Amino acid sequence: MASPPKQDQPTSRKKVAVVGAGVSGLAAAYKLKSHGFDVTVLEADERAGGKLRSVSYKGLIWDEGANTMTESEPEVQCLLDDLGLRDKQQFPISQNKRYIVRNGVPVLFQIILEPFLWKKYDSSKVSDDGTDESVGGFFQRHFGKEVVDYLIDPIVAGTSAGDPDSLSMSHSFPELWNIEKRFGSILAGLVLSKFSTKKESGGVRNGTTEKRKPRRGSFSFQNGMQTLTDTLSKELGEDALKLRSEVLSLSYNAGKYASQNWSLIYSKDKNSKDLIADAVIMTAPVCSVREMKFMKGGIPFPLNFLPEVAYMPLSVMITTFRKESVKRPLEGFGVLVPSLEQQNGLRTLGTLFSSMMFPNRASNDEYLYTTFIGGSRNRELAKSSTDELKQIVTTDLRQLLGVEGEPTFVNHFYWSKAFPLYGRNYDSVVKAIETMEKNLPGFFYAGNHRDGLSVGKSIASGCKAADLVISYLESSTDQSCAE
Ligand code: FAD
Repeated sequence: MASPPKQDQPTSRKKVAVVGAGVSGLAAAYKLKSHGFDVTVLEADERAGGKLRSVSYKGLIWDEGANTMTESEPEVQCLLDDLGLRDKQQFPISQNKRYIVRNGVPVLFQIILEPFLWKKYDSSKVSDDGTDESVGGFFQRHFGKEVVDYLIDPIVAGTSAGDPDSLSMSHSFPELWNIEKRFGSILAGLVLSKFSTKKESGGVRNGTTEKRKPRRGSFSFQNGMQTLTDTLSKELGEDALKLRSEVLSLSYNAGKYASQNWSLIYSKDKNSKDLIADAVIMTAPVCSVREMKFMKGGIPFPLNFLPEVAYMPLSVMITTFRKESVKRPLEGFGVLVPSLEQQNGLRTLGTLFSSMMFPNRASNDEYLYTTFIGGSRNRELAKSSTDELKQIVTTDLRQLLGVEGEPTFVNHFYWSKAFPLYGRNYDSVVKAIETMEKNLPGFFYAGNHRDGLSVGKSIASGCKAADLVISYLESSTDQSCAE
């Protein structure tokens, strides 16, 4: 007969609470569930997906959050394979045709950087006032001001709604930052690091570990990006995903084993509920975490060391035009507008040619465009009314693509906190998160406030947190078994 379990010793599957059902929280939960853990995801909103938000309406399909992603991170490749999503991946037509506005006109984005290839790293120019070097400063040092104004500025506006002077280089482009430190030159470093990675992976690729090479470039899914989070939610099941469940407080009480040490209070449909867990993965934005109450051993654990994060507001405008009303339609991905082009009357950050990339996004006789307005360049403009924004978008598209008349359809979505700004003191945010993890055993933080803004990086961050939870809970089980 089996001996009775010791008091306090875990008797059933380990329980993990995941806060937030954005792509990072769902990826973490999916990994934990696949490893046999009893996982519950608590999501404040009435839907899962967070910044992945796709809409299908009257034959149109559009994305109000992320529009595309890449699979540079191995975690993304595994997730797509495991979820059986390869058949639903949708790669844009003319992936490499991207435009940047110059003197009021879209020009194909092609830069020849050969002359800069061997420019050396000059450490004397790096700021020593305790803040990180800015993205603008870094690229100006390597490539000059024109590259910053006409390449880096529109790219960072288009990918993070930020601006080159405010953003920290080490947090916004950690790979390039590290390459420069290692090799001195960015481009030489890129070439050499690719070469060395190839050599390194060549050694591993023998026998059965051979992996399918991922297709390069950006992609979406047949019904938009939310296909990914919808599939993850379905895999988790209704019981594991609690919507309209806003986490209000978390309390840690050390037990003998890492068992049931966490208690979370959340409000579900205006009722207060609680959830007991062995570990917690937090993926809610830092601004939400600052609102939560934390307790440790029955006394408050104040989060006054967690700095405020600045956020970029953004409006996303969907417009459709009849094809005959667009006099200069451009084939390709989209067009980015550098800040300097505001002097030529342009007020948007950029426009994706959504139905050019993915023809199923609109009917055969119309084009669907996705335009971004606001960001750090123009915070106030992001808050404008739908009518004002419709005029701004139509005016810009008239200049850039020759649209005539009014759009046949308009949809407006406003994100008050689209992206956290990886500012030049963002290190203090990351350090504060690490302090929380150090002081609160079984607490792990993941998502776009920590490991990068892209969908791919958010997935990788969630998977990394799941791995940490697995080793934390397995090591505590080992300890309890050893006694
Ligand atoms: P989120 O998606 O923000 O998820 C956090 C979740 O936590 C939310 O669902 C929130 O409701 C929930 N939450 C908050 N507080 C609580 C609480 N108290 N209790 C419970 N739940 C709570 N990336 C790309 O790679 N490519 C793109 O093309 C791209 N375009 C973008 C366009 C826009 C307009 C935006 C806004 C983002 C874009 N991004 C893009 C960035 C990318 O989408 C996000 O960085 C990523 O999806 C973030 O995922 P996450 O899970 O870390 O956070």
